[in-house]
Amino acid sequence: MKFFQPTLNPSTCPCHGKGRFLSDRDAWVVCPTHKVPSQGHPEERSVLVDAMDDMDAAERADAVARLAALDARIDEERLALHRRIYAQFRAAARECGFEGSFWEACQYHLPCGRLFDPSSQDWIDAAESVAREFADAAEARQAEADGFRSVLEARLAHETVLEERERAAQG
Ligand SMILES: [Zn+2]
Repeated sequence: MKFFQPTLNPSTCPCHGKGRFLSDRDAWVVCPTHKVPSQGHPEERSVLVDAMDDMDAAERADAVARLAALDARIDEERLALHRRIYAQFRAAARECGFEGSFWEACQYHLPCGRLFDPSSQDWIDAAESVAREFADAAEARQAEADGFRSVLEARLAHETVLEERERAAQG
């Protein structure tokens, strides 16, 4: 049973929450989870910045203002995305038996240095920790209910079933 996608957290995704990452073959790959709508191709931005050299002062001021507005829009969209990701971890934790104030539970998982000024990424990390804790506990309960001595034993048995199924499917 999968309780949540491990790459839902931007910090563990190959894109690091930036929405795109460079592939092994040096091509930009769009991340389906973390790209936000206003985000353009990374090279579009450098083209615009390069073009500023040939602009007069008024044009340049206009271009800078447009870039700043775009960045603000991207930040806003990213914050909304982070809120949705936090809510997904909350839902995953509840599905695994968490009850009560999720926000309060997350407080205990915030890094000490960020207690008074946590970023949205800090909240996501904390939410993932709580969700993982409850997913682990749920998995342990399930393993026990299924008569296994440990989670590891249950996982191995589950893998064997999957392998057998795959072998059967291949004929
Ligand atoms: Zn990503």
